[in-house]
Amino acid sequence: MSIPTTQIVRCQLCGKGILWNRPTPNATTPPKWCKAHENRAKRARSLCPTPSKERHSTKDAALSSAAYANRKRGTSLRVYECKCTYWHLTSRVG
Ligand SMILES: [Zn+2]
Ligand SMILES: [Zn+2]
Repeated sequence: MSIPTTQIVRCQLCGKGILWNRPTPNATTPPKWCKAHENRAKRARSLCPTPSKERHSTKDAALSSAAYANRKRGTSLRVYECKCTYWHLTSRVG
């Protein structure tokens, strides 16, 4: 049985369908994001002063992640919007 060379995958951020052309028949790493989000991620990597930090697409996602960590580890993380357009967590006060 042959594997189809094109496949529909979903953007992990907006759920939009992406037509993925497999570069090789057994390629197993489809794109995670649609074009718009892919470009945003690329831009983010070049803009972000703290690229090693976890990135959250929305404030709500960052807040719930911070709340979880604070509850779990007794930290007092806050969220801030980075110039890379994503939200990060920080323990810095002020
Ligand atoms: Zn998307
Ligand atoms: Zn950033």
